[in-house]
Amino acid sequence: MSVIYDRVALIGLGLIAGSMAMAMRRAGLAGEITGYARSAETRDVARQIGLVDRVCDTAVEAVEGADLVVLCVPVGAMGAVAAEIAPGLKPGATVSDVGSVKRAVIEAVAPHLPDGVHFVPAHPLAGTEHSGPNSGFAELFDGKWCVIVPQDGADRAAVERLDALWQGIGAQTDEMDADHHDLVLAVTSHAPHLIAYTMVGVADDLGRVTDSEVIKYSAAGFRDFTRIAASDPTMWRDVFLNNRDATLEILGRFTEELFALQRAIRTGDGDHLHAYFTRTRAIRRGIIEAGQDTDAPDFGRKKGA
Ligand code: NAP
Repeated sequence: MSVIYDRVALIGLGLIAGSMAMAMRRAGLAGEITGYARSAETRDVARQIGLVDRVCDTAVEAVEGADLVVLCVPVGAMGAVAAEIAPGLKPGATVSDVGSVKRAVIEAVAPHLPDGVHFVPAHPLAGTEHSGPNSGFAELFDGKWCVIVPQDGADRAAVERLDALWQGIGAQTDEMDADHHDLVLAVTSHAPHLIAYTMVGVADDLGRVTDSEVIKYSAAGFRDFTRIAASDPTMWRDVFLNNRDATLEILGRFTEELFALQRAIRTGDGDHLHAYFTRTRAIRRGIIEAGQDTDAPDFGRKKGA
């Protein structure tokens, strides 16, 4: 593949930035990759492991001359970072981000960007529970979706160039409106994370009573909750504070359904439970038929894994 941007600047040097840098290198998509993170410690690690070609000590220095700047910081830091880099942006450059929430990031970032700079928000739907400069890997985005959220009147050439970058990184791309993105993600990611955090919290309280049983017998379902609940606290605090309406809407519906199931259990309404579980099982089949997940038992994990 050939170079899509001569110079790319990554602001924030954690899981997503590191994985982007490695995937861009793998496919030769960027001439030079610069990077900046807030702490000297992260910048030092990034230098030691050669995470990007050049680690800069200020955000302005990192974005100078960049054709693409990608904000890879927690959602709550996006606005301040946009204000910080604004004076260094090259006319005609594209600014993008990878934030898990889109409407709030657009409102925080757009007002700081000078005229003549294209803003093309995006969100790669790929991640792990690990964070920091050592956590990235080139394959993170392979076969995953990256949602691009162009603004009204966006420069199509700038949008298509960013789209080509994400495809070169290994992702499949789609375009979506910011509010729709935030509602879809509240259902597929944000509310499930909150439920996992809650379930692990409840088990932890219980664990004090039952000693190590919660850990010992966690192989089934609960193990997946613990993995999700180990996700970065700063990132997820910011997701909930910045996708408040959509998350509360979904949690409201979730609570109503949970109460209905709770009542069915209390009143011994087996028909209700059976009908509900039959419906949800069909949804899982639909996901497999659409090629979105494996049909293998336990997601294809090796025995004992
Ligand atoms: P991460 O591994 O924790 O890295 C975050 C980076 O941002 C760190 O290098 C941190 O620097 C830097 N940072 C924080 N505040 C900053 C500031 N004010 N100025 C400059 N740098 C700052 O996080 P990540 O998982 O890569 O997530 C980054 C973004 O991607 C978030 O917006 C998140 O919503 C989104 N996202 C995450 C996932 C996921 O599963 N992890 C998936 C898709 C999208 P220090 O190390 O110096 O603190």
